[in-house]
Amino acid sequence: MTHRPYFFFTVDVEEWFTSAKILSIANTSSVQASSDLEECMQWLIRFLGEEKIYGTFFFIQDIADRHPGLVNALIKEGHEVALHGVTHDDLRTLTPQKIDEMLKTARAFFQKKFNLSLKGYRAPYFSITEKVLPLLRKHDFAYDSSVVPSLRIPGWYGEFGAPQTPYHIGNGLTIRDNQSSFLEFPMSVHPRWRIPGLGGYYFRNLGYHYARHIASQCLKNLNYAIFYLHPWELSISIPRVRGVPFYMHRRTGVWTRKALRALIQSIRHTFNPLSPTLFDYYQSNIS
Ligand SMILES: [Zn+2]
Repeated sequence: MTHRPYFFFTVDVEEWFTSAKILSIANTSSVQASSDLEECMQWLIRFLGEEKIYGTFFFIQDIADRHPGLVNALIKEGHEVALHGVTHDDLRTLTPQKIDEMLKTARAFFQKKFNLSLKGYRAPYFSITEKVLPLLRKHDFAYDSSVVPSLRIPGWYGEFGAPQTPYHIGNGLTIRDNQSSFLEFPMSVHPRWRIPGLGGYYFRNLGYHYARHIASQCLKNLNYAIFYLHPWELSISIPRVRGVPFYMHRRTGVWTRKALRALIQSIRHTFNPLSPTLFDYYQSNIS
């Protein structure tokens, strides 16, 4: 990339209780009723409009099914709708047959309901494995954005040897293959220390200055940064639930809204004014 740096804003569209781990301790009707996903998403759409940023929104299928107006509003505003999964299961716990079936189901669902041909994918918990790559290609996805090129964090993720900027991905998560038209948009980590940091949990728990430092370093040294967030991180109505760790919901709501605005405004002048979606970038770089 030789132009001004690209900053990509991505959102994993799910409820705070979508994850199976949370559902196992908080699956009650009052918890489900606490959802203010619509309001959080409307805030995000307004915010991105003000900042002239086109976002990429990775949806859990069920959320798209229950909030079709949101999907249509995003498409109308020029944002991209992509896939985060039929369910929020960790891919490492599923058979290739099951994943194959889920990708097929999701593609058919979005095509039928929204006349939308899915192009992008992000694995729940960033749990991508090399076995999933041929399945994504088989189902006509153009790119993935799930590789975290960080130090290995046991039980979570970390592909230390992976490139830190978009790459043509081969038959392994860290393998470049320039013959491949399938792209990987790796998550941003500190360029030198390879520590994650440009996403919701890190942002809220490690603070604004940490995120700003990583974003600035990535934009300056790599010409590329990618940020991710969940809509519920903007929620002001998440109830306290026994058993849910403190860090999960620390500073959600007002703090995150203010800090997000401050973060983007502090780096906005350093990146490409067009700030495209991931598929926009794909289209302009892959012929
Ligand atoms: Zn997720």
